[in-house]
Amino acid sequence: MDTPKRLVVFCGPSGAGKSTLTKKVLERYPQFALSVSATTRPPRPYEVEGTHYYFVAENNFKELIDNGELLEYEQVYAGSYYGTPKRELERIWAMGRIPLLDLDVQGAARLKQWYGAQGIFVFVHPGSLENLAQRLMARGTENPESMAKRLERARYELDQAHLFDFVLHNIDLVQAEAQLMALMDQVVKNKAS
Ligand code: ADP
Ligand code: 5GP
Repeated sequence: MDTPKRLVVFCGPSGAGKSTLTKKVLERYPQFALSVSATTRPPRPYEVEGTHYYFVAENNFKELIDNGELLEYEQVYAGSYYGTPKRELERIWAMGRIPLLDLDVQGAARLKQWYGAQGIFVFVHPGSLENLAQRLMARGTENPESMAKRLERARYELDQAHLFDFVLHNIDLVQAEAQLMALMDQVVKNKAS
């Protein structure tokens, strides 16, 4: 019998701490690998092609859609597309590892329809919109326009938290990390559901 192909999806508003927390999971557990999305947004100074995202022009993104290469995609913010390449999940499953995905709420909802039974869906909650704004400011990656788009969308995203299997309150980072590691322990032992 085939082993079920499992996956872990992280969701939550931009600035909630998803990248920070997924990085810690990847450092600790060789069982996981990051599913790298394709996006049309420009790279941030520290972002590396193929590690954080596959950065593509809009016409190339549309080709990926037309060729059926994306499992799901969204225009998360006006002007910026994000999508999950099918081959990313296949690549990670072929290595015998568990993909970690970082998706917006609609992408997560779509994956839940297809992979609900095999997936753990975690919502990373920043505690408040004020915390989120402070974190985005401190990260220093957004201009006033992209900051406003992110905070505007965050209100809607925070209202969707109840749809997830776990809500991880990332207020104190050390505590959130400890809770997440306890959950990931269960996942690698195949006990979380
Ligand atoms: P996301 O991937 O969800 O967009 P990041 O992981 O980039 O968010 O985190 C946004 C910023 O907030 C980063 O500068 C990160 O270091 C910081 N951060 C993450 N978690 C916390 C926390 N609990 N308290 C304060 N700052 C945090
Ligand atoms: P950022 O621009 O801050 O990296 O990401 C913006 C938003 O896009 C975040 O909510 C992130 O979870 C989401 N996102 C990243 N990759 C994908 C993807 O492949 N599909 C979907 N639906 N959302 C994604």
